[in-house]
Amino acid sequence: MRKVVKFGGSSLATAAQFEKVGNIIRADKDRRFVVPSAPGRRFDGDTKVTDMLYGCYAAAEAGEDFSAKLEAIHDRYREIITGLGLDFSLDEDFALIRENFEAKAGADYAASRGEYLNGKVMAAYLDYEFVDAATVIRFDEDGTFAAEETDEMMAARLASCENAVIPGFYGAYADGRVKTFSRGGSDITGSIVARALRVDLYENWTDVSGFLVTDPHLVENPEVVDIITYRELRELSYMGASVLHEEAIFPVRKAGIPINIRNTNHPEDPGTMIVATTSRKPRFTITGIAGKKGFVAVTIDKDMMNSEIGFCRKVLSVFEENNISIEHMPSGIDTMCILVHQDEFQEHEQVVLSGIQRAVDPDFIGVEPDLALIAVVGRGMREMRGTAGRIFSALAHAKINCRMIDQGSSELNIIIGVANEDFEKATQAIYDIFILTQLQ
Ligand code: ASP
Repeated sequence: MRKVVKFGGSSLATAAQFEKVGNIIRADKDRRFVVPSAPGRRFDGDTKVTDMLYGCYAAAEAGEDFSAKLEAIHDRYREIITGLGLDFSLDEDFALIRENFEAKAGADYAASRGEYLNGKVMAAYLDYEFVDAATVIRFDEDGTFAAEETDEMMAARLASCENAVIPGFYGAYADGRVKTFSRGGSDITGSIVARALRVDLYENWTDVSGFLVTDPHLVENPEVVDIITYRELRELSYMGASVLHEEAIFPVRKAGIPINIRNTNHPEDPGTMIVATTSRKPRFTITGIAGKKGFVAVTIDKDMMNSEIGFCRKVLSVFEENNISIEHMPSGIDTMCILVHQDEFQEHEQVVLSGIQRAVDPDFIGVEPDLALIAVVGRGMREMRGTAGRIFSALAHAKINCRMIDQGSSELNIIIGVANEDFEKATQAIYDIFILTQLQ
């Protein structure tokens, strides 16, 4: 068996955290390829090294003296290196970084140094080979990630490695200029390495014991999901649930490699398995609940709308012309409803409304703002009668008016629209009816 293990910033913020990571890696000889983030926060209110780097580079770019800022970053690494008792120095690296900052090497280069340096420390600590991500992760000239080229380059470079540390978060253009992924992008690097090596498992180590049924800011101590499919995760992350970078599932999904979310501070916890498909019954009828506030419902009525060919297309093209993405579109006979992000919509509101008026001459257009959308997701819903019934009776008991319902034919999710102010209460009510009642 071979595994790729990725460690997040909080798992690598101090020498003590590094030691936990070292113990985890040494406990399983299959953990041969390591992807580190930059050192994260050591305590509440602390600054991540990545943010320190952005700040330091901004000062350099503005022509200010950035010595103290760079020194503070160097100190973060010194603290780790001395704490681990390593005979190792980053002095030369920091001298080069200073030169490159003075030469205005770019914010991406600056931010990437967090992972680059942490990768070097990690490689020295584990006695693993260091492979610079700039040599194995490629971006096209327009900034898009070159998946297939990377896959080949990475596979070729790592084929002869017994073990290696590959820093997360960045790669490079063909000419060697560094480019980062978006924030949190080390998750993507882990997934890319896992795919290139066709490993058996991608372990993603963080500071929670897995993917939670719902947001812990909304519900106290939500249960951990033991196993979830890529599709379920995609639905939930789209609606705001966060454990992994949204794009991290794509490379491993292509290769059918499962992801295991684990907790560095509780390595005994099994965490969450993210898989392509499973015959395992979910623990609860639903897998997760996620939602977002701030939507507007635009309702359009017109007699005989349903027999007017091209009606929907004409309406949708008005949104397209104004660059507004559509979230959901529940419809009825002679009425259609379009849910969009409130901030995007309000910017172009009157242009859109008059555009619709001209395009289809409706009998009525209504706009309802301040809606929240809640996605109740679960592969188990398909086989289970009464899921929707339970959701709506839970909402009714909590005295919440349900403004919209949308269930895809995949029966993987039910989307519910409620008033923004009912969002928290509704999430709690749905959690209670499916999770709490089953635990009692
Ligand atoms: N260090 C980067 C960030 O803070 C990337 C990562 O941690 O995944 O976003």
